Amino acid sequence: MRTTAALAGLALAGLLAGTTQAADEAAPHPLLQTIASDVSPAELKATITRLVAFGTRHTLSDTQSKTRGIGAARRWVASRFAEIGKHCGHCLDVETPEQMVQGERIPKPADLMDVLAIQRGTSDPDRYVIISGHLDSRVTDPMNATSDAPGADDDGSGSAAVIEAARVLSKYKFPATIVYAVLSGEEQGLYGGKLLAQYAKDHHWQVEAVLNNDIVGNTNGENGVTDATHVRVFSEGTKSTETTDEASRRRYNGGEVDSPSRNIARFISGIADRYLTGFSVRMVYRTDRFSRGGDQVPMLAAGYPAVRFTEAIENYTREHQDVRTANGIQYGDLPEAIDYPYLAQVTRLNATTLAALAMAPAPPPSVKIEGAVTQDTKVSWTAVPGAARYRVWWRDTTAPFWTNNQPAGNATTLTLKNTNIDDWFFGVSSVSADDYESPVEFPGSAGAFVPPPPPPAPPK
Ligand SMILES: [Zn+2]
Repeated sequence: MRTTAALAGLALAGLLAGTTQAADEAAPHPLLQTIASDVSPAELKATITRLVAFGTRHTLSDTQSKTRGIGAARRWVASRFAEIGKHCGHCLDVETPEQMVQGERIPKPADLMDVLAIQRGTSDPDRYVIISGHLDSRVTDPMNATSDAPGADDDGSGSAAVIEAARVLSKYKFPATIVYAVLSGEEQGLYGGKLLAQYAKDHHWQVEAVLNNDIVGNTNGENGVTDATHVRVFSEGTKSTETTDEASRRRYNGGEVDSPSRNIARFISGIADRYLTGFSVRMVYRTDRFSRGGDQVPMLAAGYPAVRFTEAIENYTREHQDVRTANGIQYGDLPEAIDYPYLAQVTRLNATTLAALAMAPAPPPSVKIEGAVTQDTKVSWTAVPGAARYRVWWRDTTAPFWTNNQPAGNATTLTLKNTNIDDWFFGVSSVSADDYESPVEFPGSAGAFVPPPPPPAPPK
């Protein structure tokens, strides 16, 4: 048990750091603690070892061989999901959306396939939370589809995290649907992410969050810097899909650091603080690493909130390199460089976040604030299925994390007395009867998780 002094210290640290969303007084959920403890470094290692054994998983590699290439690898992933599904009374539907694609790095039409395992929600099955990683790998030349491309970290690590999340979470039932997505074609131009976005649109998924994991298993930089206690979470500040009118309103009233993706990143940071020991999130206020991309990008372009997880320290002698030694340096994305206890921490963070999101209600839609030229601020929102109550959050306009909150009961409006609308950013979360809380939604289109319906077309 914590002493009072330690508690006071914790509260002070929270204040100084700008405390995270989960800093309210509710006790940690035993379910999430169990999920975190079930994630196994040995399972992650077994998966990466198996993936590396396919030689290359380049998107344009052999699709027919039983032992080598992307075809054998994706069939193995599908069979692994099916095997996991057997242990939960066939709770996973394995889907393999497929498309012939051609483009800059795909000169001839190629057969692209994503492998998805879908765990249907019990009471809110149309709401989706997604974890993704990419199966395809590459060497120095992005068009080389035959050389060994082990892709242990990029992105065997993310694929292994997805499969391990499926193994651990499929033991439980959740109100919302969870999708475990192992994508292809990332290195050729984010084709697998585009295919997933199209599949989600075609099936009318209400996607609340995408957790994309790409390069999440290394802790040693080639410069000697190491970090095994942080993961970077990249999130866009403003929506990729923002219209000119929305951008203009947002510039005036604020919201440039409160997209739904950013509030998911804050939520993840809070989960790390609460459920992981010696491990925390380094939030990066960018869509991805500088001028680089990942499969969360096409999901954002489709209007779905999404973030990217990447290890704190990348090793550039490992990524996108022919396997070789030169001047005594080992190049290539080999499995011996993976830090499995670290990858397990990243996977724990993903699994507990997915479970927390899928257990909680959706964030309340249509959040609105009113109160100009009065001393009070009225916050209102629309009720959401599964919410027993709501919580209004606010923070200083320059603060990175939500700092203040007030319970609103089951009402859909709350007036904060003597809290001037000009001076704070506001948001609302929804809370289930069993105390699972959603991410905070910032008011208006800038913060909306579900885009408001388009205005009616003008009469002809
Ligand atoms: Zn990658």
